[in-house]
This record gives sequence, C-alpha cells and structure tokens, in this order.
Amino acid sequence: MLGIDRGEIEKLAALLDAGPRRIVLVGHTNPDGDAIGAMLGWGGVLEDRGHTVTYIVPNRFPSFLDWMESISKIVIFKEHVDKCEKATADAEAIFSMDFNQPDRLEALGEVIASNTHATKVLIDHHLDPPSTFDVVFSRVDSSSTSYLVYNIVMQLYDPEAITKPVAEALYVGMMTDTGNFSFGNLTAGVFRAVADMVDRGINIPAINNNVYNSYSEGRMRLLGYVLGTKMHIIEAHRVAYIALGEEELRRYNFQMGDTEGFVNFPLIIKEMRMSAMFVENRRFIRVSLRSKGDLDVNLFARRYFDGGGHKNAAGGRSYDNMERTIERFRTAVDEFFG
Ligand code: 5GP
Ligand code: MN
Repeated sequence: MLGIDRGEIEKLAALLDAGPRRIVLVGHTNPDGDAIGAMLGWGGVLEDRGHTVTYIVPNRFPSFLDWMESISKIVIFKEHVDKCEKATADAEAIFSMDFNQPDRLEALGEVIASNTHATKVLIDHHLDPPSTFDVVFSRVDSSSTSYLVYNIVMQLYDPEAITKPVAEALYVGMMTDTGNFSFGNLTAGVFRAVADMVDRGINIPAINNNVYNSYSEGRMRLLGYVLGTKMHIIEAHRVAYIALGEEELRRYNFQMGDTEGFVNFPLIIKEMRMSAMFVENRRFIRVSLRSKGDLDVNLFARRYFDGGGHKNAAGGRSYDNMERTIERFRTAVDEFFG
C-alpha cells in the first residue's frame, strides 16, 4: 500500500461525507488508459455513494478503450462544449486526474479555471504539482494514477467499495501505465492490489485481449511501415526516432490513438537507450519520449519540448515544422548526451 497522507484523506472525507455532491472528474488531453481508468474507477466509487459525477476529457480517447463498462459516460469537451461548461459551472468539487498542469487541458483549462467556488482536488502521479489545489494526492512513486485511486479508496472506505466494475477500470489504468506490469515502481503493493481485483472477479486475459489485441489492419500496417522505413538511429548516442507526417497517417487510415505505444518499439533493440516519436497534427507536432534505466526523458522533454512526464516516459510539443523539429531534436540530443 501507498501510505496516504491522513490530513488529505480527512479533507476528502469531509468533502464527500457531508451529502451528495455534484462532481466533475477531468482527465488530460489525449487521454490514455490510466486517465480513463482512474476516472471511471474513482467515479464509480463516487456514484455508488450517491454523488452525481460528470466525466470530462478534452478530446477523444483511443478506441482500444471502447469496450470498457461506463465508457459512454465520458464526455468529450470538443464535441460537447455546452454540456461541459454547465457541469463545470455547477460542480461543487473538481478532481484533476492523471495530470497536474492546466496546460494539459488545452482550451478546457479555462473552463475549469472559471469555476472558482468548487473544491479542487488533485489525484496524480506526475512531478512538481502546482500549489493551486485544495486537496492534494500527488505520488510520483505510484506507477499509475489508478493505483493511487485504489489506495485512496481503501483508506476512505471498506474494501467492498472496490466493486468489480471499479476494479476493472482501475486495473486497465494500472496495466497500461506500467506497460503490462513491466516498467518502474512495481511494488509488492501493486500486485496485492491486482490480487484483490482478481478476488473481485476481473478477467485479466479478457482485459488484456480487449486492450492489446485490438489493432485495425491499418494500424498494424502503419506499425510495419514505421519500423521498416521510418525508424532512424543516431548511432553515436544510441538514440532512435520516428517522425510521421499527416499525409502518411492518412494513407494508413489513421484513427485517434493508432500511434500510441509505437515509441516503445525501438527500445526493444538491445543497445538503444532512448526513443523519440514525432507525430504531426493540424496545429503542432506531438513529441513522445521513452528511455531505459536512469536516462531522464522528463528532463529532456522539459528542456527542449515544453513538456514533461516521468523519468522513462515523457512528452511535449513543437510548433516548428517537421524538418526544423527534427533538426532541433538532433542538436538537443548532441547537447544532452555531450
Ligand atoms: P505520451 O508519450 O504517451 O504522450 O506521454 C508519456 C508521458 O509524458 C505521460 O505520462 C504524459 O503524462 C507525459 N506527457 C506527454 N505530453 C506531455 C506534455 O505536453 N506536457 C507534460 N507536462 N507531460 C506530458
Ligand atoms: Mn498515468
């Protein structure tokens, strides 16, 4: 178990135990399995206790999460601006989940900030949270936000609060953020939580199949193209990078989330210690970074691409064109490793 600060738990209990609340849960742009899993898991616990919950993300979640129970409750801000504005204005409590910087919400950030009366709660595992929250659960040592939610629920309520749907949602977050239980911070507590969830009746092979064996043919062929012809290697520094333009994505019938995880593949090469991926959209180039061991890509993302994340998985963005972005990246790599 993660030792959770007693004072924060008491503040949260005071907020939730006074009666049914109108609550907004918000997750980050390009929501991943952990953001969605943590929101649906925590929201399920809140709804079971009579609270009214609205789940908001800035843009669409990847289709490999379509099968999740309650996924239809997630409201996409871009597609339902009015509904999101109304729920946010009415909210008595707003939970920021799996992110801690308002700029990770893009335009939704201003809508959230415009509600100045709600209690603002942070549940997140990224570095350096700002001091703008009233209640803070910020644990960099938690391998996922979903595992942090599990720990909060276990301290707030009894184990029965982790129902099967809640367990399934939280498991999705724990599984995806740890690369199917292979990245860092895999404490014994994580596996005890999994054991607990198995007791609740979750079906791990089915979840695994739903999340990982869900490629479209186009996505699989895009991966083949990426690894076959688009992976460049900077031998001197043992760094790989992949750059994908909008036209290339269209050719493979790109759907939101299709390039998710591609950045991990170059690290399968034994010698490779860092991998980068640049994916173009209409407004900017999204940067994804991964590393092995002690190499800190969070630092790299902050320094060169206006981003952040974790030591071994970080991201950012570039407003230059692809050619200039790659040029800047190569210079940055020389400097960073030089
Ligand atoms: P991904 O490469 O999967 O988009 O992101 C990897 C990690 O970096 C995630 O934990 C995510 O939260 C973080 N990250 C991605 N993009 C950004 C960004 O623009 N700013 C910050 N601060 N973190 C990011
Ligand atoms: Mn996460």
